[in-house]
Amino acid sequence: MSTSDLSARETMEFDVVIVGAGPAGLAAAIRLKQLAPERSVVVVEKGSEVGAHILSGAVVDPIALDQLLPDWRNDPSHPLQQPVKGDRFYWLTGRRAVRLPNMLMPPLMSNHGNFIVSLGDVCRWLAQKAEGLGVELYPGFAAVEVLYGSQGEVLGVATGDMGIAKDGKAKSSFTRGIELRAKYTLLAEGARGSLTKMLLEKFDLQRDREPSKFGIGIKELWEVQPGKHRAGLIQHTFGWPLDNRTGGGSFLYHWGNNLVSVGFVVHLNYHNPWISPFQELQRFKTHPLVRGTLAGGKRIGYGARAITEGGWQSVPKLIFPGGALIGCAAGFMNVPRIKGSHNAMLSGIMAAEKVAEALATGRANDELTGYESDWRTSAIGRDLRKVRNVKPLWSKFGTIVGAALGGLDMWTNTLGFSLFGTLSHGKPDNATLEPASRFKPIQYPKPDGQLTFDRLGSVFLSGANHEGDQPVHLHVADEQEQKRLEHDVFGGPSTRYCPAGVYEWVGEADTFKFVINAQNCVHCKTCDIKDPGGNITWTAPEGGGGPNYPNM
Ligand SMILES: Cc1cc2nc3c(=O)[nH]c(=O)nc-3n(C[C@H](O)[C@H](O)[C@H](O)COP(=O)(O)OP(=O)(O)OC[C@H]3O[C@@H](n4cnc5c(N)ncnc54)[C@H](O)[C@@H]3O)c2cc1C
Ligand code: SF4
Repeated sequence: MSTSDLSARETMEFDVVIVGAGPAGLAAAIRLKQLAPERSVVVVEKGSEVGAHILSGAVVDPIALDQLLPDWRNDPSHPLQQPVKGDRFYWLTGRRAVRLPNMLMPPLMSNHGNFIVSLGDVCRWLAQKAEGLGVELYPGFAAVEVLYGSQGEVLGVATGDMGIAKDGKAKSSFTRGIELRAKYTLLAEGARGSLTKMLLEKFDLQRDREPSKFGIGIKELWEVQPGKHRAGLIQHTFGWPLDNRTGGGSFLYHWGNNLVSVGFVVHLNYHNPWISPFQELQRFKTHPLVRGTLAGGKRIGYGARAITEGGWQSVPKLIFPGGALIGCAAGFMNVPRIKGSHNAMLSGIMAAEKVAEALATGRANDELTGYESDWRTSAIGRDLRKVRNVKPLWSKFGTIVGAALGGLDMWTNTLGFSLFGTLSHGKPDNATLEPASRFKPIQYPKPDGQLTFDRLGSVFLSGANHEGDQPVHLHVADEQEQKRLEHDVFGGPSTRYCPAGVYEWVGEADTFKFVINAQNCVHCKTCDIKDPGGNITWTAPEGGGGPNYPNM
C-alpha cells in the first residue's frame, strides 16, 4: 500500500493534550487533575515508557514538588532519597584542581536542601501519581504534527503513523496515527522540541527575544567501589579540558547504591569545529580529581541530551491560540545552577492553573494570556533574572574573566542590581563555528576501555534502538549544501558533535557521501541545533524508538 491513499485518522477528544512526559508535562497533568478532576487530560510520550528518554544530572531543587505534592516527603515510594550533603566547586588545570571557597558562591548557587536523583525515576513516580488521578498516559507515541483550526488556532496534535518502510511504503504492520484534539495543547517536549520548533516559527514566538541558546550534556552512570562512594557529595568543575574560549563544565554526583553520575556540558556556541563533546568527557575523567573515584568501578549507563542555556533573554512568547510552551521547550533552565527541572515543573503547574481557569469559564483554543504575563514575576522569573548575564559574560570574555564577572553579577543581582543591565547572547549556536582551516585538528587520546571508552560502545549502553525499516528521521534539506558547507568549510563537525556517532562522511571522489546511522540516535537534538547551515532537521521517528534509559 502507498501512504498517499491513507485512510482518515481516528480522532480522540480531550480537554487538554500534553506532549511529553517529562517533569513539565507530568506536573501540568497532575495540577490539572487536582484542580479539575472531571476534565480529560492525555499525555503522549515518544519513549517506550515514561523515563526512557529522560536524561539529566540531577540535583533537584524541591521548590516545585513542595507546591505540587506538599506531602511528598511522607510517601515512602518517592525517589528523592539522597539529600545533598557536600557541595564542591573546582577550577581545573590539566593537573591541578583549585577548590573555590563556598563562601565565594552567591547564595543562589547553594545546593543545601536539594536532592540527588535519577530524573527518569522521578518521572516514573510522577507518572504513577498522574495515572492515579485519572490522567491518560500514552508512552510509545510520538506527536509529529500540530492540528490547526480554520482561524489558525491549535486544535491538538497527531501521533505518527507506524509501520512505514524506508522507501515510504506501508508495511503489513502499518497503523495510522491518531488525532488527539483538545481545547488546550501544552508542549512539554524539552530542549529543542520538534513540534515546538514548528510553533515557534508559525507564531513567530521568538520575535523581539534573544536567540535560543543550548549546550550538550553527555552523561555516564558509574557503579563505584564502596570505599570511594561519598553519599550526597556533589562536585562541579570548570576550566580544563576546555580551552578558555569554550564554555562548559562537569558535574559529578554520589547517590544511590554506590552510584556516581558523571557528566560534561559543552556550550554549543563553541567556535572550533574539531571539538568533540564526547571526547571532552572522556578526557575529563582522566583528571586526578576524578580518576580515583571511578577507577575500579563499572560504567553502567551512557546518554546525552541538549540543555537550554538562553534563559531570561531567550524565553520566547509562551502562548499561542490553543496552547502554550512549558518546561525546557520554553527554555526555563538556570545555567549556573545547572538546574531546569524545578522550573519545568513550576511552569507546568502555572500553565495548568491558567488552563483550568479558562476551561472553568467555558473558553477553548484561545491564548492563555495570564501565563505569558505572569511568569517573569513568578518564582521562575526570579530564578532566571538573577543569572541572566552569566552565559553572555562567559561567551564574551571567555571562561576565566567571564566566569568571574558572572559570579560578581550574580552577587550584585542578589542585592537587587546589575552593573551590566541585561546582556545579549549574540549569534545563534549554528552561526558560531569558524572554518576548520583556522584550527589544528584535536588529537584525543585513545580509549583504555576501563576509564575511557569509544562512542559506539557507549551508545550500546544507552539502549538506543529504532525499528530499522523506517524512513530516516534526520532530514538533510540539501545534500550538496551539506558537503559544500558542513564538510568542505567546517571539516564535518557532525561527525564529532553527535554523541552517538550517527553521522559519517565516507567514500572518495564520486562516491563521497554523508551517511546517517539513524538507528544510533539518542534524541539529544544537537544536530538540529549546531549544523552550520541549519540544514539538518530532527523529526520524531516511530514512537518507542530511541534510547532506553533505565535511570538517567
Ligand atoms: C546533562 C544534563 C544535566 C542536567 N542536570 C540537571 C540537574 O542537576 N538539575 C536539574 O534540575 N536539571 C538538570 N538538567 C535540566 C533538566 O533535565 C531539564 O530542565 C528538565 O528535564 C526539563 O524538563 P521538561 O519536562 O521540560 O523536558 P524533558 O525532561 O526533556 O522531557 C521531555 C519529554 O518529552 C518527550 N517528547 C519530546 N518530544 C516529543 C514528541 N514530539 N512526542 C512525544 N513525546 C515527546 C521526551 O521523550 C521526554 O520524555 C540537566 C539537563 C541535562 C541535559
Ligand atoms: S543524530 Fe542528532 S539528535 Fe541524534 S544523537 Fe546525533 S546529534 Fe543527537
